[in-house]
Amino acid sequence: MGLRTLAVDFNSFFASCEMQERPELRGKPVGIVPVMAETTSCIAASYAAKARGVKVGTGVREARALCPGIVIVAQRPALYIGYHRRLVAEIESCIHITKVKSVDEVECDLTATFAPREKAVAVARQIKERVARRVGACLTSSIGIAPNWLLAKLATDMQKPDGLVVLDDEDIPQKLLGLEMTDICGIGPGMDTRLRAHGIDSVAKLYGATRAELRGIWGGVNGERMHGMLRGEDIPLTQQEHQTVGHSHVLPPGLKSEAGSLGVLHRLLQKAAMRLRSIGHYAGGLVVNADYRDAPSWGEEIRFNETQDTLTLTGALNQLWAKRPPGLRRRKPMQVGVVLNRLLAMNGHTPDLFAKEQETARERLHHAVDTLNQTFGNGSVFYGGAFGAKDNAPMRIAFTRIPTPELEEIDPGRERRLRGGKS
Ligand SMILES: [Mg+2]
Repeated sequence: MGLRTLAVDFNSFFASCEMQERPELRGKPVGIVPVMAETTSCIAASYAAKARGVKVGTGVREARALCPGIVIVAQRPALYIGYHRRLVAEIESCIHITKVKSVDEVECDLTATFAPREKAVAVARQIKERVARRVGACLTSSIGIAPNWLLAKLATDMQKPDGLVVLDDEDIPQKLLGLEMTDICGIGPGMDTRLRAHGIDSVAKLYGATRAELRGIWGGVNGERMHGMLRGEDIPLTQQEHQTVGHSHVLPPGLKSEAGSLGVLHRLLQKAAMRLRSIGHYAGGLVVNADYRDAPSWGEEIRFNETQDTLTLTGALNQLWAKRPPGLRRRKPMQVGVVLNRLLAMNGHTPDLFAKEQETARERLHHAVDTLNQTFGNGSVFYGGAFGAKDNAPMRIAFTRIPTPELEEIDPGRERRLRGGKS
């Protein structure tokens, strides 16, 4: 297959930026938190903290118990974005970056110049040396070199910190057999459960499965994609712009009211989100519409970083609902509907760095809720938003998901997507 992709993943990125800025933190256990509070949890941890069992998602209290003396530091997103830009510029001077995957991850294409193994390794060393010299020695990275992004990303996980791992054709799958299935980008807890239900409970068995079997388990071409990617095929990620998941409902007499229609919308949204998870996709947009007997139909769209999280979508729905023209609020709705659009297959989803721990916890919650509903009937369990709660937290738009170089200022309100590629 050849070595086509070089992935750079910075180690404990936020903590490393803080240590670069504040020499007194170097070598110490450091936990980065979204806000200074004992009730919050770490969104990043330095290697000294990781060595004591502190992970992304560890609560502050637990972190202090595991690692007495840990320095808890409030995140400084603007600082990390500044570092991100400098790192991107330094890497770009060594090799062209094909895609900025997230604030601490980039993908580079080796096919143009660096295909021979020695050249690829040399460029990896050059990146490390240049970053250390020109940005700072605290900014260490793990670099993976492999036939495609999926494998290169796995290679970055195999040696931390300051790793350099090459996965040659003959290493696949041998070098990967010690990994967990969930280490593979595109296999979350839900897919892990589904694979196990089909008797696939290890990476070795995953490699043993046929293309058709994986297609069946994934419920579509994404299974075939995974089969190929695991073997080093380079399959471009396609965003399924045209595919949508939606539901609409004609309101019964008792629900033709403001509160009634919002309640129905939340139920429809929860159903759509469950469907989204069952087909293994993430949505990047939500459209809400309402038809009125005596007024023109209303509909509006909101975009966000792709998600399959019901609670995030609930916040988006409430935001859209609040944007209706005031005049409509006195009208009687006849029918309401929701559409989740801008769908992205699970393989293409990289969890938001600022929400990784929350996302994993939510995934488990949704998996449990979906299982209950599939077992005991739809609506057996639902989220409180279905009662039309107005005080739901506003949707949090991650503001550094993809810090584009042309972005001069952090604008928390700006809708942005990680993986449009075209926008
Ligand atoms: Mg990283």
